[in-house]
Amino acid sequence: MDKPIPTLSGEVALIEALAWEFGPPPPDVILGIGDDCAALALNRGRYLLWTLDTLTEGVHFDLSYMSLAQLGWKALAVNVSDIAAMGGEPRYALLSLGWPPARNWAGALEVAAGLKQAAREFGVAVIGGDTISSPSGVVITLTVAGWVPAKEMVRRSGARTGDLIYVTGVLGEAAAGLEILRNRVELAPALTQPLFQAHLAPRPQHRAGRLLARRGLATAMIDLSDGVATDLFHICRASRVGARLEARRVPVSPLVQAAAPWFHRDPLDLALKGGEDYQLLFTSPPEKQAALFRAFTRAGLPLPLLLGEITAGDRVQLVTERGEEDISGAGFDHFRLNSPANYLSS
Ligand SMILES: [Mg+2]
Repeated sequence: MDKPIPTLSGEVALIEALAWEFGPPPPDVILGIGDDCAALALNRGRYLLWTLDTLTEGVHFDLSYMSLAQLGWKALAVNVSDIAAMGGEPRYALLSLGWPPARNWAGALEVAAGLKQAAREFGVAVIGGDTISSPSGVVITLTVAGWVPAKEMVRRSGARTGDLIYVTGVLGEAAAGLEILRNRVELAPALTQPLFQAHLAPRPQHRAGRLLARRGLATAMIDLSDGVATDLFHICRASRVGARLEARRVPVSPLVQAAAPWFHRDPLDLALKGGEDYQLLFTSPPEKQAALFRAFTRAGLPLPLLLGEITAGDRVQLVTERGEEDISGAGFDHFRLNSPANYLSS
């Protein structure tokens, strides 16, 4: 981990400062702070993957349009997505549930029902946890452990100049869904329902993550929680490279293209800077493209979508008709108050 750079703002700077404070991890820790999961050496050539995510009422979700069951589902899904980003298999979860004393505790069982449904879907067992009183709102923290064969683990730091950058699915749907829900925009259900689903009940790409790892097809990988502009910048920083994206190649969801004008947002902006797509963003050498597409076809998975290439620089550059724009770190950031998608600033 590099010494924190004072010019970095917000969440990236805070995480790097914390990592500096805690110092290097002990030798049996393969990966400490700074990737999607921590990784610890296990016997039989496997690494234990360990991740944690918190969802807070008023910051990450609003119960006026999200059901408690959806909350339970999402809390597990976002953790599974982090395990997927390392190429791993999720296995066990511990739950900490902060519940407002004024809220009927039967609602906690609705959270559990959604969590159980996701746990069954992704092969995870919920094996313990804690419940606390939380007067300021519902807070759900999940830690998920999984494993990956040591030789297969995919880090953020493996991208090389010339690698191609792919994403496992179209972009911007979760951000568009959130905009419509927050602004109560009235649109046809055929358009809004898939966008709401993308925000309320994301589907982590765990099968694609395992496939990429097992076949050695990805040099670096991250899951899209904060948007391409920020998450690709994480790969660039970890790998000490730059990235070049062609605006016309960015796979903006057709639903986002159709919906965005109704709430006055640029679809490309939602695709690159809106968060929570929970697709996998990965890099892969050009000579592996045929093998990559063959593997996905055989597995019955949608083909990865190409959006740019890794360069020798250190920034994320977007190439548009107007020239080049530096979008490094321009996605969702909890600690930057003017962030376009910052829920707290609305
Ligand atoms: Mg992640």
